[in-house]
Amino acid sequence: MLVIGKNQVSLDSQTEIDYIDAFITILSVKVQLYGFEALTNSFNIFKEDNRMKCRIVVTDDELITRMDLSEILKEEGYDVVGQASDGFDAVELCRKLRPDLVLMDVKMPILDGIKASRVIIKEELALSVVLLTAYSGIEFLEQAKEVGVMGYIVKPVSSQNLIPTIEIAVAKGKLIKKIKEDAEKLKDQLEARKSIDRAKGILMDKDKISDNEAYNLIRKLSMEKHASMKNIANAIIMNHVE
Ligand SMILES: [Mg+2]
Repeated sequence: MLVIGKNQVSLDSQTEIDYIDAFITILSVKVQLYGFEALTNSFNIFKEDNRMKCRIVVTDDELITRMDLSEILKEEGYDVVGQASDGFDAVELCRKLRPDLVLMDVKMPILDGIKASRVIIKEELALSVVLLTAYSGIEFLEQAKEVGVMGYIVKPVSSQNLIPTIEIAVAKGKLIKKIKEDAEKLKDQLEARKSIDRAKGILMDKDKISDNEAYNLIRKLSMEKHASMKNIANAIIMNHVE
C-alpha cells in the first residue's frame, strides 16, 4: 500500500480496476509535481510500433498447435523466441528469456497453464500472459482473472482473434509495468522527503540552527560523501536514536 496525500494507491491486487485507479492517481500526482509534459510522456509507450520487437514464448503440449501459432506470429512480424510443451518448461524459459508475452495453453502435463501463469506473473518473468484454451466455463474464467492474465483466447485460434488480443495484452503489460515503476519512484521520493525532514528537525534541535541551515548541512554532507541526501539523513536519524 502506497499513501500519497489523501489518495491511496494500492498495487497489491491484480484487478484491472485497481490498476486503473492507481494509474489515474499517479497521473494526477505527476501533473501536480512535474506539469503536463510528464502526463503526455506516460502515453508515449502506446505510440511506438513495437510489433517487430515483441518477443513471444509459445506454450502448448500439442506440437501441431505450437507450430501453427508460431507460423501465424512470424507471418505477422512477431519474434517467437521460445516454445514449451509443458508449464514447467514455460516458467524456466521465461526465467531465461524474459519475453514480452507468453501464449499459454491451459491443459498441459507437469504444471498446468494456470499454475505456470501464476508463477510467471508473481515473479514478473514476462510482461504479459494470454491463455489459450478450449474451455470458457465461468469457474475457469474466475481462475484466469484471479491469476492476473491479460487475455484469454478460446481455441481454435486464428490470426483474427490472436493479433488484437496480443496487441492489447502487451500494451496493458507495459502500462502496468510503468505504473509500478512510477509508484516505486514516488514512494522513494516520499520516503526521502520524510527522512530529510526528520533529520533536519534533529539538527535544528541539537545545533540550534534554522530549517534552511539544517537542509544546507545535509546537502553539503551529501555532496562531500557522494551519497544521497536520504542516506545522509538516515545516518543522522540512526545516530540520534542510538
Ligand atoms: Mg493442451
